[in-house]
Amino acid sequence: MTISTTVDRVPAALRAWLSKPRPMLIDGKWVQAKSGKVFEVQDPATEMLLAKVAEGDAADIDAAVKAARRALEGPWGRMSPSARGRIIHKIGDLILENLDELAQLESLDNGKPFGVARVADVPLSADMFHYMSGWATKIEGKYIPLSTLAASGQFMSYTRPEPVGVVGQIIPWNFPLLMAAWKLAPALATGCTVVLKVAEETPLSALRLGELLLEAGLPDGVVNIVPGFGETAGAALASHPDVDKIAFTGSTEVGKLIVQAASRDLRKVSLELGGKSPNIILGDADIDEAIDGATAGIFFNHGQCCNAGSRLFVQEKIFDKVAAGIAANAEKIRLGVGMDPETQMGPLVSQVQHGRVSGYLKSGLEEGARALTGGAPLNMPGYFVKPTVLVDTHPDMKVVREEIFGPVLVATPFKEADDRLIAAANDTVYGLAAGVWSRDLAQAHRIAHQIKAGTVWINCFHVFDSALPFGGYKQSGWGREMGQAVLSNYLETKAVTTRLA
Ligand code: NAP
Ligand code: MG
Repeated sequence: MTISTTVDRVPAALRAWLSKPRPMLIDGKWVQAKSGKVFEVQDPATEMLLAKVAEGDAADIDAAVKAARRALEGPWGRMSPSARGRIIHKIGDLILENLDELAQLESLDNGKPFGVARVADVPLSADMFHYMSGWATKIEGKYIPLSTLAASGQFMSYTRPEPVGVVGQIIPWNFPLLMAAWKLAPALATGCTVVLKVAEETPLSALRLGELLLEAGLPDGVVNIVPGFGETAGAALASHPDVDKIAFTGSTEVGKLIVQAASRDLRKVSLELGGKSPNIILGDADIDEAIDGATAGIFFNHGQCCNAGSRLFVQEKIFDKVAAGIAANAEKIRLGVGMDPETQMGPLVSQVQHGRVSGYLKSGLEEGARALTGGAPLNMPGYFVKPTVLVDTHPDMKVVREEIFGPVLVATPFKEADDRLIAAANDTVYGLAAGVWSRDLAQAHRIAHQIKAGTVWINCFHVFDSALPFGGYKQSGWGREMGQAVLSNYLETKAVTTRLA
């Protein structure tokens, strides 16, 4: 493979950074894999070589876990919450200082438009560190009056939250930097140390983040970053006996493997998995807003969002207008190389993902669905798929039941906002997110309360904030990311009781 031509659009310093094999971060040092192996990272817009990256495996994971254990028992464990908070805040500052470079890396590696990475992925990553830095000094225990023994005055009890310990974190490729931030920031705020396994498709921004972590003054070994493959590095991390907890984001299928690996030693696990989120448009909604909202709901990040609004339910009387409106919006989306400022949608992340999404399109059409627009991959270099709206679907089709993780919407009409609508919206093994569009807010809230999902957006979609918990019901996961809620993923609670008399 020759180096991708889209790299020509980035500054010389970043080109130089990409031209050297990128090492992994273990114990504060940048090192090559013990095996000496590297793997190639591709630019999905051109299918050309972007960089070579050290390929970590079980031996590197073991060294990283040992470093994380030493850091936990050493300087990090002894550091005051205030000092820890200042370092975490500084990481957020450094992300913003390197905004353009990180957005360029994200665009080249993942395929997403540079402008999107610059206004969404990178600033949201910085905010996660800024927001979590405040929690470092606010993790408190409780004085607890004893239920049966308080009156005797004999005992005094309190709880003490403690870091769960060495955390193994495994992240996917759809928001590479943001997923690293969602995982690292709360682990650091609670005083844990980390071994982070980044996705094989998109390791670059997290490796650049690793440089910023050291620049911010994070002690050696507190965060170790190991790129490599899921079946080797990921599996070794999930089953490592000295890892106290695994935090995973990715497919429900691999989430189940993580649980199996962790169950041998009953290691703690939190999971942020897939979705097939319903987006419901009621007849009284502001139609133009709902059409634009549903368009963004499915096509943002090329549909590669765990919370994508991929199952659209529209009240019968406005169905044709809404479906046609979304299809018209889809046709206007400019597809292209992420580094081109005109681009609104880039390629899918990889050949594998391109094949997966194309397979779903084929299966949907074979099972009788009709494409109002799209329906096929684009015949050009790069992993491009046309944004697609499928109608005439039925609830048993694979495209309706399974997470596609691509720019494919299935749209279905409904008669009334009654129990049948709620049953249809909840007819999925997933429960990550949902949308409701209506001018009748009382009705919208009633529906929001009946949807089995961790997030419901009313008259909006894809609104994320570091302060808001995010996670799934049913097979969409265990635990919550972000907000105060994520802290419990990384804390143990100890009850301490003293006999006073
Ligand atoms: P995936 O296989 O679940 O990958 C997520 C992470 O897990 C990656 O770092 C991966 O490493 C690692 N991994 C894979 N197998 C592992 C194992 N046996 N033990 C430990 N770690 C392992 O996701 P994918 O292959 O990238 O995408 C497949 C499907 O997952 C997509 O089509 C989509 O439906 C879903 N997905 C969901 C999310 C989400 O946020 N919910 C994100 C991405 C994908 P490698 O990178 O080396 O494979
Ligand atoms: Mg994979």
